[in-house]
Amino acid sequence: MTDNFINKTYIEDMLKEAEFADNESVSRALDRAEKGETLTHKETASLLKTGDPGHIKRIFAVAGEIKKRIYGNRIVMFAPLYVSDYCVNRCAYCSFNTGNEFSRRRLTMDEVRREVKILEMMGHKRLALEAGEHEDQCPIDYILECIKTIYEMKFENGEIRRVNVNIAATTTENYRKLKDARIGTYILFQETYHEPAYDSFHLSGPKKDFTWHLNAFDRAQDAGIDDVGGGVLFGLGDPYFDVMGLLLHNEHLERKYNTGFHTISVPRLCPAAGMNIKDFPNLVDDETFAKIVAIIRIAVPFTGMILSTRESHEMRKKLLQLGISQISAGSSTGVGGYERTASARGAETRSEPSNPQFMVNDDRSAISIISELMDDGYIPSFCTACYRGGRTGDRFMSLAKSGQIRNVCLPNALMTLCEYSMDYGDDTFRKKTAAVIEKEIPSVVNDTVRRKTIENVEKIRSGAGRDFYI
Ligand code: SAM
Ligand code: SF4
Repeated sequence: MTDNFINKTYIEDMLKEAEFADNESVSRALDRAEKGETLTHKETASLLKTGDPGHIKRIFAVAGEIKKRIYGNRIVMFAPLYVSDYCVNRCAYCSFNTGNEFSRRRLTMDEVRREVKILEMMGHKRLALEAGEHEDQCPIDYILECIKTIYEMKFENGEIRRVNVNIAATTTENYRKLKDARIGTYILFQETYHEPAYDSFHLSGPKKDFTWHLNAFDRAQDAGIDDVGGGVLFGLGDPYFDVMGLLLHNEHLERKYNTGFHTISVPRLCPAAGMNIKDFPNLVDDETFAKIVAIIRIAVPFTGMILSTRESHEMRKKLLQLGISQISAGSSTGVGGYERTASARGAETRSEPSNPQFMVNDDRSAISIISELMDDGYIPSFCTACYRGGRTGDRFMSLAKSGQIRNVCLPNALMTLCEYSMDYGDDTFRKKTAAVIEKEIPSVVNDTVRRKTIENVEKIRSGAGRDFYI
């Protein structure tokens, strides 16, 4: 059944009207956001359309406050794992598109294990599995086998504890299989909610069907996947239209399934083989992008926001203050890319060179990113507790909205950071981590939880235990 809940005329009229919003109404919207009230579409549109430097400064301040109030200073870490670059679609922006000539491949299970081993050596516990769309070369059974292989791997220092999946829109039956394979979040970017723009960038293949793609989360929810993660690829359509589209999509899911997006990703177009970024007329500049991130934070305070290494070191630093709660680190965006990087550093060469899906901008190592996060006052978190404890969908959201998440996420962040530092850090790194933990433990407000956290941190440090979570 087709269901297009993105009313194009409604969004366009709203954005047109918002151009004439007066100063007082924008200030009133920000006053309401500051008090934690939910903004109307009209108010959000007025924030998007304001160019007033005073308002923009306040948008950043309010978003920063919301971020601190709800997420504290925790930043969840993850990395992508590309398993196959076969693709039948012709997306004008992507190097995997079917019109691009290069030697395509998918990982064998041995190669999956080798990539995962390298990711584990970086300390990752949470992966986003990525693939192009190809029913023959990359069928759902192959994806399921990858997931099974990853979950089965156990190392001295732990294991991958959560596999999120970012594969093409598929059938309810396939989503049921992914649910049974115990995926974390099912992630899919709408790319753009503006249907004519969507049509112009998706030249052929099943992904060209806007409504099929748009209704993917409904099918995933129908199949029992209640953690879904949305996003748009900024640089394709009108970015303000796309923010409104994200909000309408979120509300549609809330209405129908009682739970909206678990996360929103904010990828921005990067150069890639086979495309010229100059051909894209809606590229988003840094200042506008920061404003958009801040407005999404204000509009959906309880939805996690994900930023990848598509952004530069400097932009990531800035956007972390405005609302981002989850970042990738040490990423490769090509099939077999981790082993390739490792072999470039002197290890035995096994993989063919990979064709990256796009160029990353932040190519620092995972540990240097994690270390700098601590220098900047953040707590890098490797927590996967909600997923493992069954706190997904509306159970997660009600916990988040009640503020209880602070008694759960902070101790989990501290315990997993301690584990990371013991497993992967040198003396200097461990000292830095210890200082962060000592400083943050008093902020665990529940006495019993705080005592338990201290006890567990001691056990991790002395080697008497690991993998604790609340
Ligand atoms: N192939 C599936 C799909 O397209 O839905 C799975 C996701 S694909 C591996 C990951 C995402 O990368 C796409 O959804 C797209 O938004 C993004 N992407 C593709 N080309 C990009 C580029 N040149 N710059 C930044 N992001 C890009
Ligand atoms: Fe294929 Fe996804 Fe790239 Fe489109 S964005 S060409 S579907 S891998």
